Amino acid sequence: MAVGMRSDTHPAIRRLHERRWAIMSRYRVWDDDWVHDLSDEDARQLLSIFEAIRRVDLGTYGLCASCGSVVDRDRLSRIPEAAMCEVCAEFAYGGVSAHAVVM
Ligand SMILES: [Zn+2]
Repeated sequence: MAVGMRSDTHPAIRRLHERRWAIMSRYRVWDDDWVHDLSDEDARQLLSIFEAIRRVDLGTYGLCASCGSVVDRDRLSRIPEAAMCEVCAEFAYGGVSAHAVVM
């Protein structure tokens, strides 16, 4: 039985927060309307990041949302917000460029 990774030991989690701020800092996040200024791509990525952070809180970060196996660390380093393992993402979105769809 796979166990989620501890949030304080996984460097990908730090990168999640870095990416979140990288996006948010491009907008006036102190303004309540900033969300409406997000580009589609940034909104999609930010949503994926928020979902990933939620999985960290739930203790399921690093586990594939589809098959439940541990997601490869290299993959999480590349795409810290990835919700699925490589195999499931390939199966779900086969052929489509990874960065926009794996979450
Ligand atoms: Zn999987």
